[in-house]
Amino acid sequence: SPIIVWIRRDLRLTDHAALHEAGRSGRPVIPVFIRDHGVDSLGAAPKWRLGKGLGHFTKVLGDKGSRLVLRAGPAREVLEALIDETGAGAVWWQRAYDPAAVERDTAVKAALKDRGTDVRSFAGHLLFEPWTVETKQGGYYKVYSPFWRAVCERDVPEPLAAPSKLTPPESWPEGEALDDWQLGAAMRRGGPVVGAHVRLGEETAQARLGAFMANGVDGYKDGRNLVAEDGCSGLSENLSLGEISPAQCWHAAMRARDAGKAGAETWAKELVWREFAYHLMWHTPHLLEDNWREEWKAFPWNEDERRREVIAWKRARTGIPFVDAALREMYVTGRMHNRARMIVASYLTKHLMCHWKIGLDWFEDCLTDWDPASNALGWQWTAGSGPDAAPYFRVFNPITQREKFDPDRAYIRRWIAEGEGTPTDTALSYFDAIPESWAMNPDDPYPDPVVSAEDGRKAALAAYEDRDF
Ligand code: FAD
Repeated sequence: SPIIVWIRRDLRLTDHAALHEAGRSGRPVIPVFIRDHGVDSLGAAPKWRLGKGLGHFTKVLGDKGSRLVLRAGPAREVLEALIDETGAGAVWWQRAYDPAAVERDTAVKAALKDRGTDVRSFAGHLLFEPWTVETKQGGYYKVYSPFWRAVCERDVPEPLAAPSKLTPPESWPEGEALDDWQLGAAMRRGGPVVGAHVRLGEETAQARLGAFMANGVDGYKDGRNLVAEDGCSGLSENLSLGEISPAQCWHAAMRARDAGKAGAETWAKELVWREFAYHLMWHTPHLLEDNWREEWKAFPWNEDERRREVIAWKRARTGIPFVDAALREMYVTGRMHNRARMIVASYLTKHLMCHWKIGLDWFEDCLTDWDPASNALGWQWTAGSGPDAAPYFRVFNPITQREKFDPDRAYIRRWIAEGEGTPTDTALSYFDAIPESWAMNPDDPYPDPVVSAEDGRKAALAAYEDRDF
């Protein structure tokens, strides 16, 4: 009988355990993607990017003589209907780790097993299952460095090959049309602005990984902090949708390290930050929605999204060039440099004293590499409320950070048009992307800071000092 492979955030053929095993079985394989509540509730940019990824993966499967069947509805109902229609005896998938997905998958597993279906879940989105990495005392890790040391002692299995064949069923169950799903509907960016920056699919991701290991990784140690440079891998977008697997990245880094490439281990350490974020999300799911540290629960975060400062932050008109440049980069490209993410997050949570959830939600709406665990850890780390967080007195100074990490103002010029005689095309593209209702114009004068670097720092430190951390 056929095997249904439930495709989720794993849009690849290689190193895909469920597809690999299903292919090897010789039985007919029915790949299906379900638009359930989890998909409907995604932010605008991640949902739009998912649509692009699904379109591409449909072609990839088509080239293999297979298909991606699209269905909408609650996962359990969709799968039960498909089993009835196709006579499938098995439903396999690769695991997800966020609390909503875990709850859904646990319920689906129990219900389908009750019906006698062979239900299997496989690893693949992470290097290690979060429950298998334990401290010597048997708990989970709350601090990154010992987590890194612990994972270094373990072996990451070699990535699996793509299935050589995916046998089609005798007849394909009906599917919905991707275009009808309108996954890009909430993406109200003018023109094909973000589309120009997408790096779509498994082949592109593999090529990027190869090129980065051949040329980029040597300079990564220093280059990764220079915001105007292309010094990072840019693979987060693909990792987020599983267009490449972390094990493929890990082994490429280890081969580069063994070949004497400087920076390869530093890069692997960053990959393990992603892993650490998942480890923490699994063990402490409140990481996604509540101050991770108990003592921060009473912190008087400003939560009013209608405040002038918050609106200025979202519209990238804070009057702090580094902050505005970064927020514009995200709005236009769907990505933001890691250093810049820390600066804008620090400015929102410390200078403006706003709740990190406001920033977390905005990132979720704008990032094509949006990832629940890394986004939450990044925000809570910068705000100070998270695990292994920057200490409260670490308030990034957006002025000196700019001097250090964008010394010739290339990043600022790339993204800020106001006040520039001849603004760059990229800076102007921001104005093509934003809604008209924001009433912003590249000829406007550049604004004064809503809160200056120095005033914001003093206010944040005073607020923290009043508390007993
Ligand atoms: P590289 O420097 O090439 O690193 C390789 C890979 O390691 C990345 O693709 C990523 O998977 C992982 N990685 C690197 N840095 C981190 C980190 N600090 N935390 C976790 N994983 C990391 N990353 C996301 O993928 N999605 C998010 O939604 C996200 N939100 C963030 C929010 C804030 C406030 C902060 C401070 C960081 C956030 N990050 C997020 C982490 C990081 O900024 C991005 O992973 C990185 O910029 C991606 O670029 P790259 O692929 O070129 O990274």
